Amino acid sequence: MVAELSTKLVAQVEQAAKLLRSAKQVCILSGAGISAESGIPTFRDKQTGLWENFSAEDLASPTAFARDPKLVWSWYQWRRELVQDKAPNPAHRALAKWQQGLALKNLASKQRLTLITQNVDDLHEQAGSEAIHLHGHLWRNRCSQCDSVFVESSANNEETKNAVEKIKRFSDELIACPQCGGYIRPDIVWFGESLPVEAWQQAEEAAANCEVFISIGTSSLVYPAAGLAQLAKQNGAKIIEINPNPTPSTVVDITLAAKAGAVMPLLVSTLEQSKS
Ligand code: NAD
Ligand code: ZN
Repeated sequence: MVAELSTKLVAQVEQAAKLLRSAKQVCILSGAGISAESGIPTFRDKQTGLWENFSAEDLASPTAFARDPKLVWSWYQWRRELVQDKAPNPAHRALAKWQQGLALKNLASKQRLTLITQNVDDLHEQAGSEAIHLHGHLWRNRCSQCDSVFVESSANNEETKNAVEKIKRFSDELIACPQCGGYIRPDIVWFGESLPVEAWQQAEEAAANCEVFISIGTSSLVYPAAGLAQLAKQNGAKIIEINPNPTPSTVVDITLAAKAGAVMPLLVSTLEQSKS
């Protein structure tokens, strides 16, 4: 893996590890790019097949759902089918190893690491991490009208059981809310909607109080999440960005311009070595 990275990049990873070694609070924000190597397309990738004439911005919005709920629901069912068999990649796993304190046993009591994600997949959790989800969860559902959670496990009548089956089969048939009859939607924060209050408060607190902020695989275009790096910078943190492509972020101190799946294992093993 290291062979894929240039000497310059390896030196930059060491520089990043140096900053991280002395940090008591580290805040990490991950975006769609961290799941790209697991085979989940980002929003910047062109959509394929049936969906190639649609942009994500045109589908992931309350206006789109109000205009054509079946179209939006079908897109999410298609995304769920696409994501269902995907597994964490080395970037998710390296992060989990670090977070669990296995890699940094000696530092575990001194360092606090908060992982915030914009992703709606559960690959961080599958890898063993705890993450604050700013944009919701692909696998959860709620009512678009009365907001009640659609709890699959408590389906206690035939109609709801059938609905659960349809969701699991990735059927594009719309589901009616058992409480009010409104349409069920994915529990995801769409463009134009506000973020979950508690998750956002935790994210702001972690960003404002960290000494090092790492942004992994995010385009830094989607606000308010993109503002977290700025908040960290204003409070004196150093900013590290991991992304093979340039982003508009102007607050970055160290850019690690390579894929997260190559950089993260190296970064975590560099930290590990420095402690042994
Ligand atoms: P984005 O699609 O706007 O940008 C992805 C970024 O990842 C790009 O800057 C790209 O250069 C970078 N990237 C691509 N491959 C990479 C790799 N291997 N390693 C590191 N970086 C890589 O994604 P975003 O910034 O997260 O914001 C868009 C919105 O998309 C978010 O709200 C998120 O909820 C949603 N989204 C989520 C998923 C998911 O859950 N996996 C997938 C697509 C979109
Ligand atoms: Zn309802």
